[in-house]
Amino acid sequence: MLNDEDRIFTNLYGFEPHNLEHARKRGDWDNTKAILKKGREWIIEEVKASGLRGRGGAGFSTGLKWSFMPKELGDRPHYLVINADESEPGTCKDRDILRNDPHKLLEGALIAGFAIGAHVAYIYIRGEFFNEGSAVLEAIEEAKAAGLLGKDAAGSGWDFDVILHRGAGAYICGEETALIESIEGKKGQPRNKPPFPAMAGLYSCPTIVNNVETISVVSTILRRGASWFSGLGLDEKNAGTKLFCISGHVNYPCNVEEEMGVSLRELIEKHAGGVRGGWDNLLAVIPGGSSTPMIPKEICDSVHMDFDSLREVNTALGTAGVIVMDKSTDLIYAIARLSYFYKHESCGQCTPCREGVGWIWRIMTRMVKGNASVEEIDMLWDITKEIEGNTICAFGDAAVWPVQGLIRHFRPEMEKRIMEYRKSVA
Ligand code: SF4
Repeated sequence: MLNDEDRIFTNLYGFEPHNLEHARKRGDWDNTKAILKKGREWIIEEVKASGLRGRGGAGFSTGLKWSFMPKELGDRPHYLVINADESEPGTCKDRDILRNDPHKLLEGALIAGFAIGAHVAYIYIRGEFFNEGSAVLEAIEEAKAAGLLGKDAAGSGWDFDVILHRGAGAYICGEETALIESIEGKKGQPRNKPPFPAMAGLYSCPTIVNNVETISVVSTILRRGASWFSGLGLDEKNAGTKLFCISGHVNYPCNVEEEMGVSLRELIEKHAGGVRGGWDNLLAVIPGGSSTPMIPKEICDSVHMDFDSLREVNTALGTAGVIVMDKSTDLIYAIARLSYFYKHESCGQCTPCREGVGWIWRIMTRMVKGNASVEEIDMLWDITKEIEGNTICAFGDAAVWPVQGLIRHFRPEMEKRIMEYRKSVA
């Protein structure tokens, strides 16, 4: 269990005000200039050495991503874009950072922006986060007034502005290139890659897109040292602390910061008051936000919450949005509902996703009743495999993984439902 002194987000629950005065008392903006004076290379190498991997879902090495930016500023400006479009069902961690710890994000933005040669950062926030956006705007104004942002930010000699951009609530705008399109005032649809944003991103300029949590942990890592962060967690590839969101059939749904690699059972029992009705009443868990395949209780009994442990059991850490389902859950219905969500949120650009996800939803709707044939379970599986990896963006994968998880672990339930339906109409 994570020691209190190793917690990065000490105001996650908003017990203290989010203003600059209190943020400073918590250690934010403490001699930021000294960090920047160490130089870009040092910052990037230190972040690489810390083992920090993106906290938005993909889990790519943050320092390595930063190192892809051109080393020198050419005739095109560099941009930092912060993805605050948190929309993955089951996930609400960035929201708590935005409303309770916005200065941690702004300080991280200055450091990251400086490291990649950007004088401007855009925070793209989902439109529904109105109050959170207001908290960030307030923090930007405070930081500007205190000389921490703007010209010669924090006395570093580096000019740096942060602009808040409100989105309009489309899930797909959380995909980095769709997000960039949206900032540019276009329809939020993902771009074909390459080129990747580090070469041609916002306004065709070199751009790094990072998640809110990723940027928010940077200042603490640099203050306490890469070895402190890499010393926490399961191993060097699964290092540090992580915000987990625990929802569903638990006694106390919550967000909590824990060590990467904590066991799922410990996470649920120590922080969320356990599964409703006790651990043996557990049926399945979606471990990393709605797009990650569910795992049944037998796996939940021993699995650890980190990138590699979850990949080994055919699922993913994703956003660490843990959705707990007890034995009262109709899993087929739950996944059909997610299929509807993904069908609704598909941007419609590529055929496998646009047509396939709607097709999956229609079959899943019949599967809920059992009004299907057993062979259609195989067909459903085939459709998911035809979509996976064959689309412009990772949304196609995200849309089909929940169905794959259901078939992989609960096919007998689906077959039983079909048999019962047949009997009922015979
Ligand atoms: Fe749009 Fe889906 Fe294609 Fe992504 S996979 S570009 S969401 S149609």
